[in-house]
Amino acid sequence: MKVYNSLTRRLEELRPLTGDEIRLYTCGPTVYNFAHIGNFRAYAFEDVLRRTIEFNGLKVKQVMNLTDVDDKTIRGANAAGVALTDYTKTYKDAFFADLKKLNIEPAEVYPAATDHIPEMIALVEKLMAKGVAYQSEDGSVYFKVREFPGYGKLAHIDFDNQRTGLRCAADEYDKENVGDFALWKAWEASDGPVGWDSPWGRGRPGWHIECSAMSMKYLGETFYLHTGGIDNLFPHHENEIAQAEAATGKEFVRTWMHCAHLRVNGEKMSKSAGNFFTLRDLLDKGWTGREIRYVLVNAHYRSGLNFAFSALEDARKSLERIDRAVAQCTEGEAPDWALKHLEAFAAAVNDDLNLPGAFAALFALVRDANAHNGGPVLEVFRKMDKVLGVIFFGKREAEQLPAEVEKLLAERAQARAAKNWAESDRLRDAIAALGYAVKDSREGQTCTRK
Ligand code: AMP
Ligand code: ZN
Repeated sequence: MKVYNSLTRRLEELRPLTGDEIRLYTCGPTVYNFAHIGNFRAYAFEDVLRRTIEFNGLKVKQVMNLTDVDDKTIRGANAAGVALTDYTKTYKDAFFADLKKLNIEPAEVYPAATDHIPEMIALVEKLMAKGVAYQSEDGSVYFKVREFPGYGKLAHIDFDNQRTGLRCAADEYDKENVGDFALWKAWEASDGPVGWDSPWGRGRPGWHIECSAMSMKYLGETFYLHTGGIDNLFPHHENEIAQAEAATGKEFVRTWMHCAHLRVNGEKMSKSAGNFFTLRDLLDKGWTGREIRYVLVNAHYRSGLNFAFSALEDARKSLERIDRAVAQCTEGEAPDWALKHLEAFAAAVNDDLNLPGAFAALFALVRDANAHNGGPVLEVFRKMDKVLGVIFFGKREAEQLPAEVEKLLAERAQARAAKNWAESDRLRDAIAALGYAVKDSREGQTCTRK
């Protein structure tokens, strides 16, 4: 399996550092609001990544942090007049419900920042002891970028001529405004009741230190794989490297992977631009989790993806085609004509998660299965779906059928139980007139859109 490493800017063979386990850290959500589907593009990419690693017979230990203290969560909680933990709980719960809807496999650990303040303080103390951090007159503690020679190696920028010794208190800044960044932020009146005691007085951690401290706690000082959206690459991931490597003197992460943005009319989907849809927005409009997942994983993760409702319509049609083919297939030993497509599928996903290629192999299998009126290829579909996570095997999402069709199906089930075949056939035609096809099996009726 080859993946593109943002650090070396090359395709590299994915290999565990030891044993058969890949240790993976994925930057998680800031729980101040419902995540939008741009965020879910990143989480869906990471899900496909972990599923592909597992498809190849390796184990994954994935850690995804929950940022439950920062400027935005504090502002939200104080504006709502509730405790920070109560405020963030709503969005943590919503996040986990959304992951389920999108069929995203759970990570092994979801550490929350507020549960790891002592680890962050210990890491800042280490950086102070090494002379790469200092407390400024405002009480906050900063990382001295000038003292870490490797600064800029992930973003591939030589900052030597730009290091002015300026300071930047904000968590996010751009390459033109590089300065010493905050490790620990001194308490301010706007923080209200939020704060922790530290050797530098009351305050709270910066965003970047959170990920360095929690990743090393659960995955070790050196681990294999770290991912996020491309906007995380700088400064967030650059700063994570600086903090970790300055503290331990060891390599922090071997491979970095970043997914491109989900865009709307050419612009990054984001809360601040106001051009976003939450998952809930789309579910409320009648789209299903698997249709949305299909759109998010269908493009190559390093290519831009423009969000459009027409893509959801295409996803619905494509999934119906897959469902119809799968419904005809049976268990048993897979024939060569199917194994050939599985091979092409494996080659595609192992080539830096080439999902367009993987879907092409899936549709080649669909075509051949249709030509054979089915065949013993369910296991091949299942293996592909281990990575894709979009296929239904026999079940239909009840919510996808219009109420009218559901009603006719219920009447038809009754008619069949009473062995009233004429009525059963009449109802089949009535359902067909609405655009749906019914199939009968020992398990009962299955209904798909025609
Ligand atoms: P945040 O909650 O803003 O820290 O973002 C959580 C994750 O979503 C990070 O990995 C971001 O890089 C990613 N992300 C944010 N916006 C987008 C977008 N429009 N497309 C893809 N990923 C995004
Ligand atoms: Zn992070």
